[in-house]
Amino acid sequence: MIEQCLIIIKPDGLVKSLTGNVITTLSETKLKIVGAKVIKVSRELAEKHYAQLKEKKPHIFEPTINYIMGKFHTDRVFALVYHGEDAIEKIRKLCGPTNPEEADPISIRGKFGRINSKTGVLENVLHASDSKENAEREIRLWFSPGELTETIYPIKKEIVKEERILWK
Ligand code: ADP
Repeated sequence: MIEQCLIIIKPDGLVKSLTGNVITTLSETKLKIVGAKVIKVSRELAEKHYAQLKEKKPHIFEPTINYIMGKFHTDRVFALVYHGEDAIEKIRKLCGPTNPEEADPISIRGKFGRINSKTGVLENVLHASDSKENAEREIRLWFSPGELTETIYPIKKEIVKEERILWK
């Protein structure tokens, strides 16, 4: 099945200079990158992204929001959209499970992740969408259609008058 998967290299991944390692490892999947950008994560975006975590694991919601917003490392993340056959399964296999201590030592999270003993946060280097539905919800949240090289979801055209920041 052709799928998309959102990858977010989290702030610990950026301060540890792991962007190259992650992209090289994920290139083993032969999937296509159809979008990529560096973002400063706002509280609003972080809360929307982890809305399901608030329901599932409310005790770790706040530290996880602070983690993705960069309160412990740096205030930016690198977001990528991968596209292709069984993208989610292929990517999550290379990432390893949520807890880096339970991950295969040669998976990305197993190699580079840690549990922060002060905050209790599982600093696991990257986020990867876990289902087709969540991938669509997350990609719509993080990227606008014009930032992707493929039209992966239905689009609409509207004339919108808004203030924009342009180069002088
Ligand atoms: P995943 O990122 O593997 O899809 P979840 O959606 O369950 O996992 O959790 C989102 C993020 O919240 C994790 O990547 C991790 O950073 C943090 N987290 C999840 N569970 C825990 C936990 N039990 N203790 C500390 N942090 C956690």
